[in-house]
Amino acid sequence: MILETAQGQRLGGSKELAFTNGTCRFCGTRLRYEFVDLGMSPLCETYLTADEINQMEAFYPLKVFVCERCFLVQLQEYVSAGEIFSEYAYFSSYSDSWLRHSKKYVDMVCERFGLDSSSKVVELASNDGYLLQYFVEKGIGVLGVEPAANVAKVAEEKGVRTLVEFFGVRSALRLSEQGEEADLIIGNNVLAQVPDINDFVEGIKLLLKAGGVATIEFPHLMRLIEGNQLDTIYHEHFSYFSLLASERIFSAHGLTVFDVEELRSHGGSLRVYLRHAEDDSKPMVERVGELRKRELAAGYDEMETYSAFGERAKATKRNILEFLIRAKREGKRIAGYGAPGKGNTLLNYCGIREDFLDYTVDRNPYKHGKFLPGTHIPIFGVEKIAETKPDYVFILPWNLKDEIMGQMGYIREWGGKFVVPIPDVKVYE
Ligand SMILES: [Zn+2]
Repeated sequence: MILETAQGQRLGGSKELAFTNGTCRFCGTRLRYEFVDLGMSPLCETYLTADEINQMEAFYPLKVFVCERCFLVQLQEYVSAGEIFSEYAYFSSYSDSWLRHSKKYVDMVCERFGLDSSSKVVELASNDGYLLQYFVEKGIGVLGVEPAANVAKVAEEKGVRTLVEFFGVRSALRLSEQGEEADLIIGNNVLAQVPDINDFVEGIKLLLKAGGVATIEFPHLMRLIEGNQLDTIYHEHFSYFSLLASERIFSAHGLTVFDVEELRSHGGSLRVYLRHAEDDSKPMVERVGELRKRELAAGYDEMETYSAFGERAKATKRNILEFLIRAKREGKRIAGYGAPGKGNTLLNYCGIREDFLDYTVDRNPYKHGKFLPGTHIPIFGVEKIAETKPDYVFILPWNLKDEIMGQMGYIREWGGKFVVPIPDVKVYE
């Protein structure tokens, strides 16, 4: 209660909600403070066919809260994880850069922790075996746990042993009994997608051998806030972590972060290295303390840092719309580039439809002839840009802007320009 009063005094000006919207998925505190409200949005990966755009479409709130006690930024489970992840259209192996990232990780971790054919590696949310396949190549025993049956099947075909289920305490206990305890547990881009985070992290504690290591990668909240990456908020991502908030959760389950790396993937991620709290054979690496200090200096244990983000998102929306309205008044033609999940968050939040973007293009042939969820902007192959010669190409996957501007440099032949919306709307001649 004292904590609440102390926080309350510091919260001047931030928006306290008159109603409750559930409790913190980690510490159970009632959620009273909004981080950002992106309005109603459809699931960002549900691309529509021509028939489907004439039908009713499901929209869910994209409203994010911050816990005043543990500072976990979180979305309520508006859509159940079962609904989102049981059949998943995302195959990790489609991305060459992600495969390179994975192979590099496997070489590094095997050397650092001396893994060999006597070791056991378990990956949680192992997708299509994109990562575990590199351990298999080295003759190391692996087990994948993956809830989406369609992607798990692809993993099995590659020789990656995979269980189709959601991971948690129950599966950890059963696997331990079966002698499947792990020297290394890997969780890449799964922690954010777990609705019951305590059950998931406790499962890691139970399945990890006494001297074992777990490495967990997740998008870094500091990058989201500093990079104004409001479009990396999706219904699939239930939690958004600083190092501080993640350490609080791991430590509550007897796991200690002894090393951390800042990665460029997904707009800026953290890879934390965990060991059992009672395992003193692994020294604390200095960069943990350094990042902790940086987060504290940037105010990640103060509510003001979080409450400012909502206003910034609104300003971003106004700036993007201002640019688009001016361009349309000048009679310009604008095409989108890319159809990523983040693009759908941004377009739905800003209300950008065919009134601003004539169409978008994507390199993935699976999306051609389909329409973006919510905004119903049609998706074509990349050659459409050369055919129609738009004045502006609006790049939705801004994290790939350099690569895209390199590939699409030919738009300058007809005076075309690139526009990147995040962190701030910017035109590249
Ligand atoms: Zn909390």
